[in-house]
Amino acid sequence: MPVMPRPSILSVEPYVGGESKVPGVNRIVKLSSNEGAFGPPPAAVQAIAEAAREAHRYPDGGATALRDAIGRYHGLDPARIVTGNGSDELLALLILAYGGEGTELVMSAHGFLMYELTGRWAGCSIIKVPEKDLAADVDGLIAACGPRTRLVILANPNNPTGALLPQSEVNRLRAGLREDILLILDSAYAEYVEAPDYDPGQALVDAGSNTVMTRTFSKVWGLGGMRLGWCYGPAAIIDVLNRVRGPFNVNASAMAAGIAALTDADWVKKSVVHNSEWRAKMTQGLEKLGLKVHPSHGNFLLVDFGSAERAKAADAHLRSRGLIVRGVAVYALPTCLRITIGNAEECVMVLDALAEFRHA
Ligand SMILES: *Cc1c(COP(=O)(O)O)cnc(C)c1O
Repeated sequence: MPVMPRPSILSVEPYVGGESKVPGVNRIVKLSSNEGAFGPPPAAVQAIAEAAREAHRYPDGGATALRDAIGRYHGLDPARIVTGNGSDELLALLILAYGGEGTELVMSAHGFLMYELTGRWAGCSIIKVPEKDLAADVDGLIAACGPRTRLVILANPNNPTGALLPQSEVNRLRAGLREDILLILDSAYAEYVEAPDYDPGQALVDAGSNTVMTRTFSKVWGLGGMRLGWCYGPAAIIDVLNRVRGPFNVNASAMAAGIAALTDADWVKKSVVHNSEWRAKMTQGLEKLGLKVHPSHGNFLLVDFGSAERAKAADAHLRSRGLIVRGVAVYALPTCLRITIGNAEECVMVLDALAEFRHA
């Protein structure tokens, strides 16, 4: 008999990230992972370089300075923040701690893939709830919960659809869930949202003992390569995360980068202004080309080419121009491509290439 993992592990497909290379093409523009339009904040780059000199030292396992900086920036109690090796790590720890064999994890049909992959690792049954116009359906999510449900996970805005649930709907979701169901609000794209009543999760976390919010430095902050995310939650859940996380789960460079990034007071504003401007321009330009663009509240657009063949052909054409976007067939959206809003030049390159494609 060979050594075998727990049976549910072999139902996990390895996650395939956005690609970054095209053979034979020199200049690559990577618009496949929503990494932010401006690269990392300069203060973070400098902090990473400085941290390199202390690379022989273990990092602060409590991430005290980083949690203090996040708390100050967002007006939150640092004692109720846990940082992680990307928010993916924290999502995984939550799913493993609160899910497991014999439990159900409920998510929206086109919710972020990592919930399903980690849920299977944990041994949960994954319940995917059909959407309305590619947006999460609160009544459906509530109705899908049974006695074995322990976790409901909602990305708001969602990746890859870009859909945003109104705050009243998120509140209605929490109110409709049993008290022993943990609601995870994944707010990876929170900074880009412009809806005036939007709350990335603070209010619902503070209102009870069964909601957490996860956030990331990978999107608007341009630090995906550092792997840095955080979770804000009720004290008892933060205590659980501190028991199960690795003692040094966030490395010293990531901590230094995060602290430095938060000192750049204009970074988010500048990024959001750019994103809103080019998200609108891209939407208009793509619609002029006869493409369907789903309304997005993130730094990416889900573009529908009408058929899987057409989407594949568009993807191939973009690649031939060095433009890498994201096919979303794994999300059961084979007619669509997800395109990150890059800098102005990159956005124009996409529009030009797709205009060319239309006439090809
Ligand atoms: C990118 C993304 C994440 C993961 O972020 P990391 O902090 O880099 O692990 C989580 N959720 C959603 C919806 C994302 O798009």
